[in-house]
Amino acid sequence: MAVLKVARLGDPILRQIAKPVNLENIRDNKDIQLLIDDMIDTMRMEKGVGLAAPQVSRSIQVVVLECAGSERYPDRNEFPLMTLINPVFTKYSEETVSGWEGCLSLPGLRGLVPRSREVALEAYNRMGEKVFIETDGFFAIALQHEIDHLNGIVFVDRMTDLAKLSYQEEFETYWMKEDVIEV
Ligand code: ZN
Repeated sequence: MAVLKVARLGDPILRQIAKPVNLENIRDNKDIQLLIDDMIDTMRMEKGVGLAAPQVSRSIQVVVLECAGSERYPDRNEFPLMTLINPVFTKYSEETVSGWEGCLSLPGLRGLVPRSREVALEAYNRMGEKVFIETDGFFAIALQHEIDHLNGIVFVDRMTDLAKLSYQEEFETYWMKEDVIEV
């Protein structure tokens, strides 16, 4: 297992549409299984709550997510480690919520981003089994941020007010110390 280099904004791979993964014999697909292990290592080392394969320069539809308890953000809803392959949203709520987001591919930047409050999706896990998720709040935002990466979209593209784009230090100085989702 290894920590991989994270692609940063400007790298064209972040703007490509990621290809679906062939699910046949995925349990025995050493390339994909090793990639997933390395993505989990990288997400944990970089202290993100999610990572998409294009962020480690693989333009395929794989994301990993995990949010363990944080003393800094006790109100944040936790979610267990998961791998989602070929995810497809089946529902977006019209109702939106705005939250401050960060991204491992835009280090040091924070932005206020409107997102659907609730989402539902279908995907496959690393064993090739179908999974269904319906959720809201922090987890729903993290899912939308990650799956955007599979479509070449980064959080600044979703911002409606670029005056709310800030470096971390200025964010702490001038904006409320609100929850930040680093994905
Ligand atoms: Zn990101």
